[in-house]
Parts: sequence; structure tokens; C-alpha cells
Amino acid sequence: MDTQMLIGASLVSGTETEEQILNPRTGELIVSLPEASLSQVEAAVSAAEKAFAGWSRTTPAERSGYLLKIAERIEAEAESLAALEAMNCGKPGHLALGDEIPAIVDCFRFFAGAVRCMTGPIAGEYLAGHTSMIRRDPIGIVASIAPWNYPLMMMAWKIAPAIGAGNTVVFKPSEQTPLTALRMAAIFAEILPEGVVNIILGRGETVGSALINHPKIAMISLTGDIATGRKILEAANKTIKRTHLELGGKAPVIVFDDADIEATVQGLRAFGYYNAGQDCTAACRVYAHSAVYDRFVADLSDAVSSIAYGQADDAQNEMGSLISLRQRDRVASFVARAREANDIEVATGGEIPDGPGFFYKPTVIAGALQTDEIVRREVFGPVVSVTRFDDADQAIAWANDSDYGLASSVWTKDVSKGLQVASRLQYGCTWVNTHFMLTSEMPHGGLKQSGYGKDLSSYALEDYSVVRHVMIAH
Ligand code: NAD
Repeated sequence: MDTQMLIGASLVSGTETEEQILNPRTGELIVSLPEASLSQVEAAVSAAEKAFAGWSRTTPAERSGYLLKIAERIEAEAESLAALEAMNCGKPGHLALGDEIPAIVDCFRFFAGAVRCMTGPIAGEYLAGHTSMIRRDPIGIVASIAPWNYPLMMMAWKIAPAIGAGNTVVFKPSEQTPLTALRMAAIFAEILPEGVVNIILGRGETVGSALINHPKIAMISLTGDIATGRKILEAANKTIKRTHLELGGKAPVIVFDDADIEATVQGLRAFGYYNAGQDCTAACRVYAHSAVYDRFVADLSDAVSSIAYGQADDAQNEMGSLISLRQRDRVASFVARAREANDIEVATGGEIPDGPGFFYKPTVIAGALQTDEIVRREVFGPVVSVTRFDDADQAIAWANDSDYGLASSVWTKDVSKGLQVASRLQYGCTWVNTHFMLTSEMPHGGLKQSGYGKDLSSYALEDYSVVRHVMIAH
């Protein structure tokens, strides 16, 4: 197992407080890893600064070549990377291997192509005797800070467009899930020029804070909690750093009376509980039309109660554990408070199962009201609430009545109705008759307090670069 960080060309161990990395499926210790010291943070920023001078002048084709090599290497190590990710996150290994690794490889390959056709320089005469040109240049050193739910995928989403656009990076994985990042540190050390990507370990309040407050960091990219996003904005304020924030979500799912209920139930079973619901786009807040509400709740509860989790043979599992005891307690306390509301019925789940690890039973909460905490706050666990509605305007108003604005879906056989509703939803993404699906070509990112900036797609390259004007008198 790789345990060393990457600073410049060197693989080194941290020297400060040790963090215990647990296997959430069993609760057992995998390894203890020391976090970076402040001088190691400084060294990582210096290495990125030194590398920027050369890397920012490479051609897109050269950078594309590096991204392709990284993709190839991840593909070659798919099985071991997926196993490491599964062990560190408690997710089923076959899902990490079958769903996540191909998307990660594709992310690097997509950006390898996209950097070669970035909105190109344009030139023209807009003032007599002068020629103007527009350049798109890298920003500088990007501090990338990732969460624990998809550690390797978040790393790919951040590093591929950032270095593809010519920036250098200091990357900090979540203190809970650094293992695949450390494997990638060894791979980057072999493939990339010195200092282009630096990987340092540590907690948010120590290493993260030192990084985001560093005057030489030009941009901070975070996927994480709204509270962390606010801290980043405060830090960015001092030297006016560019920020790219992918924060939480509470995705509404509107199920109309003309929806294909069987398909909708199967969709919810898959997209409400994927990654044990620890997904900012999880289909967790359902509004079901009165005419189909009873059938929908009954069928969804049946379907959800059959989700396989916690089996000794991991290949049988559809759902993994939660990331930590703390996260499991958090989810359990949301459900406990929901039970206290008279209107609510826990239709299935709502318990901590027997056995080791940080599992929570896949849960459906019926009869939730718009004002209930379980409808309003991000649970980040395998818990889906269902609320009854009578008319479309009401459902749309409730769906939009949220501080979040990341993802949403509409389920109806009438596609034109689906599109009309989609146009009224205040979300970065709306799916019609599906949920959760992403592709490297399309942007992913939120509105409102879900943040701003896009991951994936050519829009990410725009976020990780600056537009400049050069004018020549002649
Ligand atoms: P978190 O905000 O606690 O941690 C995210 C990262 O920020 C970690 O690496 C952490 O160490 C770091 N961090 C924390 N405090 C910091 C500080 N003061 N300065 C600098 N860095 C700091 O979030 P989490 O618990 O790891 O992840 C769960 C959250 O992430 C959820 O709210 C979820 O919705 C969100 N999320 C959003 C998306 C998206 O695309 N919008 C994707 C995945 C997760």
C-alpha cells in the first residue's frame, strides 16, 4: 500500500498528527497516516510554483499526452485501485470497478481531447489600426480539496481539467479517504514532470486551512460541505482567489400521475441508495402525485427492502456502509427526529442492522411534509422521503423551496411536460425519466448554496483558465 505524499519529485511521509484510516465495512484499522506539516504545505506550494513556469508553456498536445498516460495507467490498475477505494470507503468493490473506474478513465481521456480544442484564441480589428487577440491562459497554482464519498473520481474531476488547462495543483484528499490518492501520488511521480501535481494529507482545519490561506494559491476548488465552502470564501477574500465550489444537494424528484411507476420505483431504488445515499445528487426528496402516491410508497418500500448490503460475499452487495460511525450516527439521528413528527411513517428500514461496520438499513420515509427537517436538510445517507402533492405548480414550488440547487428529476410519460417542468426547476441539472446519470461531455455543478463552477465538460476548462486580451497597434 502506498502511504507517501507527493511534493515536487519526492514521495514523502507527513510528520504531524496521525489519522486513523478505517475500513468502514468492518470498523477495523487499515493504517495510520501522519498529516503534512506546515513546512510541507509550503514545500508543495513552492514545487507547484516552480513547475508552473514550464508546465504553463507546454502545448495542449503535450498536456493531452500526459492525461492519456494517466488514463491508461488507471485502466491498467483498475482492479487494485477499485479494491483500495472499496476498502477505504466501504463501497462494494464491483461497483467501484464497474461504475467508477471507467468514468474516471473517461474523465482523463475526455480532457485529453478537450484541451486540444479549447475555445481558441480569436483575433480581429475592433479599433482602427489595432489588432486584438483573445488568449485563454492558465490561472496558476490551484488548491484542490476533495471529499470522502468518491475520492478517486473527485480527484480526476479536479486534476484533469486543472492540469489540462496548464495549471499546477496542490491536492488534498479527505483525511478519511486518502488511500487511492496516495496510489495516484506514486503514479503521478512516474508520469508527470516534477511539481505539476502535489498531494498532501491532512485535516481541513490544519493542512486545508494553510493551503486555502496561502497567498501563492491562485484558485481554490472544493467539493464538500456548505460550511467548508463559506470558509473557503473567507480565505479567498484576502487575496481575491478564484473559487470553484461544488457543495451539497437535496435533489427533488417529481413523480407525476402519468409516470411509469415501475420504472420510477426501479430508478429510485438505484439512484436514491447508490453509494449508500452519500451522493450530492442522490434522489432523496420525492414528491409523488396523490393519484399514485399510495402505490408508489408501497412499491418503493418493497423494492428498497430488497437492496442487498452487508453480505460476506461483496459481489452480492448493491449497497455499502456509510463512511464512518459519525456519519452513521448522523443519519440515524435524522431518522429518529423524523419519527417524532406525527405525520411521518418509516415505511421500511430506519434501523442500524446487527453486525460489524457502519451500515444503515435502506430507508423510505412516507408522509413527510415540506416543513419537515428530513425534507429540508441534506442527510447524506440511504434515506428517501416521500411527500404527497396534488398539482404541478405545488410540486415545482416545493422542489425549488430549498437552499440547494444541484440536481433534480421529473418522471412522466409526457416528455413535453417533463421539459416544461425542467425549465422551471432551479437546479444545475434536471433529468427526465432518469436521475444521477453523468457523462464527461456535460457540465456538473450547482446553483444557489450548492455552489458554482462546473466539473466535467469544456465548461470546466473555462473555469480553470483566464481570458486575456492582447492588442497590437499597427
Ligand atoms: P467537508 O466539507 O467536511 O470536507 C471536504 C474537504 O474539505 C475535506 O478534504 C476536508 O478536509 C476539507 N476541509 C474541511 N474544512 C476545511 C477548511 N477549514 N479549510 C480547508 N479545507 C477544509 O465535506 P465531506 O464531509 O468530506 O463531504 C461531504 C459533503 O460534500 C456533503 O455536504 C456533500 O453534499 C458534498 N459533496 C458535494 C458534491 C458536489 O459535486 N456538489 C460531491 C460530493 C460531495
